[in-house]
Amino acid sequence: MDQTKHDVTPGLGTRAVWAGEQDAHWAGATQVAVAFSVSFGYKTVEEWLEVALGKKAGHIYGRNTNPTVAAFEDKVRDLEGAEAATSFASGMAAISNTLFTLLSPGDRIVSIKDTYGGTNKLFVEFLPRFQIEVALCDTTDHSAIEAAISQGCKLLYLESPTNPTIKVVDIARLAAAAHRHGALVVVDNTLATPINQRPLQLGADLVVHSATKFLGGHADALAGVVCGPRDLVARVYHFREINGACLEPMSAYLLLRGMKTLHLRVRQQNENALQIARFLESHARVAQVFYPGLASHENHDIACRQMSGFGGVLSFALHGSFDAVKSFLPRLRYANLAANLGAVETVAGPPATTSHVESTPAERAASGIPEALIRYSVGIEDVDDLIADLRRALG
Ligand SMILES: *Cc1c(COP(=O)(O)O)cnc(C)c1O
Repeated sequence: MDQTKHDVTPGLGTRAVWAGEQDAHWAGATQVAVAFSVSFGYKTVEEWLEVALGKKAGHIYGRNTNPTVAAFEDKVRDLEGAEAATSFASGMAAISNTLFTLLSPGDRIVSIKDTYGGTNKLFVEFLPRFQIEVALCDTTDHSAIEAAISQGCKLLYLESPTNPTIKVVDIARLAAAAHRHGALVVVDNTLATPINQRPLQLGADLVVHSATKFLGGHADALAGVVCGPRDLVARVYHFREINGACLEPMSAYLLLRGMKTLHLRVRQQNENALQIARFLESHARVAQVFYPGLASHENHDIACRQMSGFGGVLSFALHGSFDAVKSFLPRLRYANLAANLGAVETVAGPPATTSHVESTPAERAASGIPEALIRYSVGIEDVDDLIADLRRALG
């Protein structure tokens, strides 16, 4: 945002609407234009060279940068309170580009068992092929994570809250431990969004997002983004401009439009999720509810410290086996049974077909995911209708 026009820092809602759009308009348009052009032309070779060498603002070729994409990056950058941001074709592209930029053969990375399924695949299948050692700790055992860090570590990779059992890790405590040992800290902030949690302020070096989820909010565009200090983001950007996992301009536009209501959506989803978690916790057919806003959550105190809202995703286990899930889910009227989260519509599904579709039953069991678990990403519907829907489907 143009800070010179403000004497105080505007709130997150104002920034969600206005940030990133200052220089992105065309011919007086009040909305950011979608620049489908792959290349950007110049009248003189001198000016072209200046832009190519980064001495002058501008764009050369769509795999490197694009004005619509740049506006999207700047909106997220502003909301995360970061110096710089760069974007990707998907959340997994953001995560894998970040890891492959920062790690080299012989390095060691420490993370948790409960990362997103695709991230976990990078840890167990791909990084070891490049002689990168991966130490995956029990997600809520902070002493074990600190001990793993102290054995030597180039990078600490965290996610909070996690997916699908909605665990919470103490970002400030673990970032401090990592920095004592000279390690960089990367946090996946997809489930929280910058409205509820700002990892850079808690000590993280880089924040990554699957913008496909809450940032876009409408389940119509795949994207990823990385935010942090200029030098680190420049390194991640450089790898991305070469390997080509760039965000395309139409998706950037859809994300920009979606993000203008981010604060409204997330606020509603926070409220809905808390009421639904309380309802489910009191229901006889529900064995367990995982939501950081509940006093019964094992790390409710950490969540209260580091989050300003508890997010729109919860999960719950039914009494019984996977058969109970199979008969329950189709009875829901207001939920897409689909592999997504963070949309305006409620989305529900079992981990076996969503977050952990790539994992085997044994891997899911080892991650402590109950067979009868349901991940429920709360939409912006009226909460009374969602509760009535759940009550009917459970009854
Ligand atoms: C969905 C998701 C990802 C991957 O993002 P894509 O956009 O699907 O590639 C990464 N982390 C978390 C927490 C997610 O929910």
